[in-house]
Amino acid sequence: MKPHDALYIDGAWRPAASRDVIEVVNPADEQVIGRVPAGGVLDVDTAVRAARAALPGWAATPPAERAGRLAALRDALVARADEIAETVTAELGSPPKLSQAVHAGLPIAVAGSYAELAATHPFEERAGNSTILHEPIGVVGAITPWNYPLHQIVAKVAPALAAGCAIVLKPAEDTPLTAQLFAEAVHEAGLPAGVFNLVTGLGPVAGQALAEHPDVDLVSFTGSTAVGRRIGAVAGGAVKKVALELGGKSANVILPGADLARAVNVGVAHVMSNSGQTCSAWTRMLVHRDQYDEAVELAGAAAAKYGDRIGPLVSARQRDQVRGYIEQGVAEGARLVAGGPEAPRETGYFVAPTVFADVTPEMTIAREEIFGPVLTILRYEDEEDALRIANGTVYGLAGAVWAADDAEAAAFARRMDTGQVDINGGRFNPLAPFGGYKQSGVGRELGTHGLAEYLQTKSLQF
Ligand code: NAP
Ligand code: MG
Repeated sequence: MKPHDALYIDGAWRPAASRDVIEVVNPADEQVIGRVPAGGVLDVDTAVRAARAALPGWAATPPAERAGRLAALRDALVARADEIAETVTAELGSPPKLSQAVHAGLPIAVAGSYAELAATHPFEERAGNSTILHEPIGVVGAITPWNYPLHQIVAKVAPALAAGCAIVLKPAEDTPLTAQLFAEAVHEAGLPAGVFNLVTGLGPVAGQALAEHPDVDLVSFTGSTAVGRRIGAVAGGAVKKVALELGGKSANVILPGADLARAVNVGVAHVMSNSGQTCSAWTRMLVHRDQYDEAVELAGAAAAKYGDRIGPLVSARQRDQVRGYIEQGVAEGARLVAGGPEAPRETGYFVAPTVFADVTPEMTIAREEIFGPVLTILRYEDEEDALRIANGTVYGLAGAVWAADDAEAAAFARRMDTGQVDINGGRFNPLAPFGGYKQSGVGRELGTHGLAEYLQTKSLQF
């Protein structure tokens, strides 16, 4: 795809009012691969007006017709799956196989799920003498990060379209080309002009203008807790709805009866995938003291195998931040069993797959989201101790439990303060609600729960 020197507003590519530009860099070789506009306050306003104008028509479109457009959008993404994977690899740095399977495959599955849900969701229900209408909330401002660039766009735009909302998207500055590809797919799917609008730009400029815009009814944000907190405050001040998908420090709890080798190997893979840039990554592995040394050895060996198979981090800034955390882990007394802060290559923003043992819950590397290929392994005494450690962070996004059987693992999972738990390696489900307890966020994405975020209810009494 050739980058567009324009914004997608009201059904067409239009030059930005702002003259500012974002240079897109390939993190594997540090070369500039494209330039896109950095939209300003005026551009955001133009896009919000277009969305507002398109809203009544789209909201009144029968759900079955909206479902048809979503199916066409899914088909447009399928037709461009290779191009999507290549683009994500170029601007995020993920290995081609991962880009195909996850960065292209997952959003296609999610778009498909909303094509079905739009057709089958009960937008009206009866309760006593009332008819309850689930109506679109209105104009949605979507602000997305770079780590799963297309998935995070589709996880907001698809349910918003299914609900009958109009959208303005401000994607991450590091991955705007994937967002432009998505806009092309929307165009091909034949969505009415103005229902979806794209303003590429910088967070503190375009992102902030979108979050603060008085004519946006719902702000849906995925990214750091620091920015999420600010967006939540702005939305609260304006009495508008907000959905926040924020950071995590998820626990992988290995109970004594588990298949230790499998639990450790899957756990390491979960952290290293996407170079550790996954909000739900199981970055804290909790192991019983009797199995601790064996688990550390297995994890060190598993991480060493990754060597060259993971991609770079998205930017020099992220690489420097992750290296800083690794240095801090060493300084605070954790023991390196794989990787370390040294650059594994001269060019590109690479960090070696890193594993820390002898990590205690109060260490910085056990409390803060590192967002890189860094696993911490903590020792627990008994089940109560494991639960205390698992729940002992400000986050609560995801997690895993491994035990002798599913019932034992599920019993432990019920006591965890977190939004998702995978039981004995249970696989990712794109229909399961995804979102955080505590400071990991507000609201849920995916499936019917994700659709409900974009609806508001009206009751008619008869
Ligand atoms: P971020 O700054 O929170 O970025 C997320 C999105 O918000 C981007 O589109 C960003 O634009 C935008 N943004 C930034 N400042 C804003 C503001 N004041 N008002 C409105 N929008 C704003 O996250 P990041 O800089 O990409 O990464 C920083 C850290 O966040 C990472 O190290 C990681 O710990 C965490 N993170 C978490 C997730 C997650 O899925 N939970 C995803 C990504 C990052 P720009 O792209 O221009 O900054
Ligand atoms: Mg940022």
